Amino acid sequence: MVNEFKLKQEICEVGQKLYLKGFVAANDGNISFRMAENLVLCTPTLTSKGSLKPDDICTVDMTGKQIAGRKKRTSEVLLHLEIYKRNPSVKAVVHSHPPYATAFSVAGEQIPTCILPEVEVFLGPIPTARYETPGAQGFADTITPFVNKAKVAVLKNHGTVSWGETLTQAYWWTEILDAYCRILTIAHGLGRVERISEPKVRELIDLKERFGIKDDPRKLENADLCVNTEFGRGFAGPAACGCGGAAGRVEGGAVTAASQQDVERLVQEITDRIVGAMK
Ligand SMILES: [Zn+2]
Repeated sequence: MVNEFKLKQEICEVGQKLYLKGFVAANDGNISFRMAENLVLCTPTLTSKGSLKPDDICTVDMTGKQIAGRKKRTSEVLLHLEIYKRNPSVKAVVHSHPPYATAFSVAGEQIPTCILPEVEVFLGPIPTARYETPGAQGFADTITPFVNKAKVAVLKNHGTVSWGETLTQAYWWTEILDAYCRILTIAHGLGRVERISEPKVRELIDLKERFGIKDDPRKLENADLCVNTEFGRGFAGPAACGCGGAAGRVEGGAVTAASQQDVERLVQEITDRIVGAMK
């Protein structure tokens, strides 16, 4: 039998972690747990996740109707319910606004893969759901295509959502994702992002089974493993990073559209200076 009070305590603990990690400012974010087929615990609206009490946690049915709790349930619970409806193995959902992962969607940058082993093993694909005004069913529908193909997704210009069989798992996927995006941001700032070759990533995906982690959907669908291979190429190109081969889709020495513009700007500036000096 489920211990409802213990589950509520666990939701509060996850809330505190989200708050201390800086993944939720003010009243941002929401957490839920599917207790039974038609019973879901969720966090209330307008309450900081950093100071939640078990008594604050609401209970809703699978239509989102509140059936218990002294505070009003979060308006974003429909997003959580959509995930539970589409994937019955999911028991917990965490939605927050982690700055590094969210920044990638704000910058219009898909999160690249084939860079860190842990991310390949624990997260797998990291899709970005299209933007929609938060709250209503239209917003919840943006996650539908990814519920059975990933365990975490970025919500365009909004935040992230992750799901799992336990609250700890659902929280971890968000934590791993944001730590990853932080490393990508730092590496990008240093000038270049190097990759793991696609055959080596396939080795990691095979390891998943040994760890008892479900098959990677990319393997089942024979989908592209390495996403956004342009990210962090800079001027160096794959020849310079030694990571061409299967992972590299940009031909040696090629520059990205953005860096091509930079080259043109630089050439123009040098030309202007020479012309200026000659005058
Ligand atoms: Zn949100």
